[in-house]
Amino acid sequence: MRRKCIVCGRDAIIYVPYARSAFCREHFERYYERRIARTLKEHGFRGGRVLVALSGGKDSVALLAALVRLRSELNIEVEAVHVNLHIHRNQFSDVSLDVSKRVCEALGVRLHVIDLKETTGLTLPELVSASARKPCSVCGLVRRYLLNRFAWERGFDWIATGHNMDDACTFMLKALLTERLEDIARAPEVVTPPRPELRLVGRIRPQLFTTARENRTYVAIRGLPVVEVKCPYSEEATLHKYMKLWEHIVRVNPVSPVTFLRTVLRIKRALGEDAELRTCSRCGFATTGDVCAFCRLMERVRRET
Ligand code: SF4
Ligand code: ZN
Ligand code: ZN
Repeated sequence: MRRKCIVCGRDAIIYVPYARSAFCREHFERYYERRIARTLKEHGFRGGRVLVALSGGKDSVALLAALVRLRSELNIEVEAVHVNLHIHRNQFSDVSLDVSKRVCEALGVRLHVIDLKETTGLTLPELVSASARKPCSVCGLVRRYLLNRFAWERGFDWIATGHNMDDACTFMLKALLTERLEDIARAPEVVTPPRPELRLVGRIRPQLFTTARENRTYVAIRGLPVVEVKCPYSEEATLHKYMKLWEHIVRVNPVSPVTFLRTVLRIKRALGEDAELRTCSRCGFATTGDVCAFCRLMERVRRET
């Protein structure tokens, strides 16, 4: 039998297992936006200038669309930024930039573009070849650094990123099963406040308690485009078995994503403070050592190219 919307009784288009509720199109849209707003408020978010890191994937497109709707309720100004990584195999970067532009046009949002090649002189594949790190590690490092620097220089209070609950849970499950306490210590939080003394812009992850499926459904309801091609460096294969295991856990206990994530965040707090941060002696942005990882990467690249 077809499930019915818990609010109005019409045919449902989605069942949300952890909420044990089904929704029609209209009421899911409202539920989703309420959940984003509530997640932020419950974690002490009080508004400001928000820069949404827009990759063009379903999570960040849904995030931008929801935040634009919630502007006055959350007391935020919203702009978006896309990092062009210049990954040209399967046209990944061209498609991602094109989708980001179309999404921002449809939502009436200003889009900034950080061009990796213009900023560092190199494309992501070139940076990867010159580094000893794995591609996604290089990519994460340069994106984190460039987004923070860009947002800091333009006076944004927050960077919003599209972390979804399934990815966070899978990553944390792997960390627990492989004894990687350092990954638990870095577990993503909904709100990481700014630290101006370290030139660190605040971070918000408003979708930490929404699933990938909810994000995809919300984007479809809003009629927005998303990038359908996969990044050729995607490391999904290495996480595949943990994804399968996680899906099984959710089938057995549908509420487990929410409780699991809350438990991990409590363990993280019990583990104590992150490594102490200071400012990089080269660029002046936050780091744990004397020279930050981005500056070290750039120095290595300059030596090798
Ligand atoms: Fe970057 Fe890896 Fe994501 Fe590709 S899959 S965009 S390399 S983090
Ligand atoms: Zn309904
Ligand atoms: Zn530096």
